[in-house]
Amino acid sequence: NVFDLGLLKVNGKSYPFKGSFPPMWNPIVYMDFNNLFRTMDEMGQEIPREAPWRAPRALEWDNMTMQELFNKICWTSAVRRFATLFVNVNVTSEPHEVSALWFLWYVKQCGGTMRIFSTTNGGQERKFAGGSSQISECMAKELGDRVKLQSPVYRIDQTGDMVVVETVNKETYTARYVVVATPPALNLKMHFNPELPPLRNQLIYRVPMGCVIKCMVYYKENFWRKKGYCGTMVIEEEGAPIGLTLDDTKPDGTVPAIMGFILARKCRKLADLTKEERLRRICEIYSRVLGSEEALHPVHYEEKNWCEEEYSGGCYTAYFPPGTLTQFGRVLREPVGRLYFAGTETASEWSGYMEGAVQAGERAAREVLCAMGKIHQSQIHQPEPESQEVPALPFVTSFWERNLPSVGGFLKLTGVSAVLSAAAAVGLVAYKKGLFPRS
Ligand SMILES: Cc1cc2nc3c(=O)[nH]c(=O)nc-3n(C[C@H](O)[C@H](O)[C@H](O)COP(=O)(O)OP(=O)(O)OC[C@H]3O[C@@H](n4cnc5c(N)ncnc54)[C@H](O)[C@@H]3O)c2cc1C
Repeated sequence: NVFDLGLLKVNGKSYPFKGSFPPMWNPIVYMDFNNLFRTMDEMGQEIPREAPWRAPRALEWDNMTMQELFNKICWTSAVRRFATLFVNVNVTSEPHEVSALWFLWYVKQCGGTMRIFSTTNGGQERKFAGGSSQISECMAKELGDRVKLQSPVYRIDQTGDMVVVETVNKETYTARYVVVATPPALNLKMHFNPELPPLRNQLIYRVPMGCVIKCMVYYKENFWRKKGYCGTMVIEEEGAPIGLTLDDTKPDGTVPAIMGFILARKCRKLADLTKEERLRRICEIYSRVLGSEEALHPVHYEEKNWCEEEYSGGCYTAYFPPGTLTQFGRVLREPVGRLYFAGTETASEWSGYMEGAVQAGERAAREVLCAMGKIHQSQIHQPEPESQEVPALPFVTSFWERNLPSVGGFLKLTGVSAVLSAAAAVGLVAYKKGLFPRS
């Protein structure tokens, strides 16, 4: 594929690369990088998908931020920089904001570091021709006027025989069971009668949403493809607004566009600029990374700051700060009376994604069916069938990826062997000079 070259922008220079991760030419940096990602995956293997709080070292890892973990594992600034971007891109938050246990679980339940980040054979591979909103639009068509828009729920009362749900626009609905499918923190906008149990009541204060502005820059032509680039840019510079881009041209080649994310700290920093100023800065960095003047001349721009959405509170998903998952995680999916909880945050596979939202919705529906006596409890948790059309293929790791030491391990090894060789040399000289007694 001639369009498979991504670009890494670091220290004022652009480097083309192929594959999921940018290349590391310096052997020490490569060793460091390899060890970081291998360690994250190994730690992930110890974390149960369904109950990360039951990991053998759950408490220790939950009381640590990802920043602290990076400080322990990473030796080189290049790898620390990329590790920060890895957290920013995947969970729209900063390494110092998130629990290590939670982030390692998050990556694990998406299939590991390769699966979550890869465009080929990974989480970022596929798009919906025509856009993903078609799913909700088509479902809404089937459901007709049972779908109520612009009707935020502010009160849920389950003191009577039926659960009563009231909306801000003064509509009342009654049901035997209710599935609450909002991010947990948005339950703060609802009044519950009876009040939520203590752990659930406190959980909803403790799981903030990530920060992201999604930016779509449209061009007359996808000029980057002419240069052999696929439109993926990994931009590590602190001054650059965007951290990651993907080509968002329609599958039939029309409407050339580059999608970019303004993430976490940068989202907070740039939120007050005008839309025009953000666009100017974005085009400037695209122009520098792609080495093309054409990037400075977009034909259209759209952006969405998810942090300003009252009924999202941020995006893509909620994150768990240190100390939260082990203390409150276990009530995430626990029903409260006749309330059942769905939403991507409650999923155990691809939580944080649409896939997770579907898994969670189906599980909550089965919980209700079980409560109604229609299915057995053992039928509630069902594994998602593997996609026939796009099966997740295993990632093959090389001997070196599996066996290269960490930088620390390497230094120890070479340090020990240097000391041993020096001792042997001194010993040989001493022997030759007759300083050792000969028996
Ligand atoms: C910029 C961005 C990019 C993303 N990219 C991807 C991607 O490429 N692939 C992917 O799979 N996922 C992606 N996601 C994540 C994906 O959008 C979410 O995981 C998914 O939408 C979660 O679905 P959900 O049903 O759990 O929650 P939501 O989609 O957040 O739905 C919750 C709903 O509850 C409503 N609500 C909130 N409060 C109330 C209330 N009081 N009363 C009534 N209704 C209320 C909200 O309005 C909302 O409609 C992205 C998200 C963002 C923001």
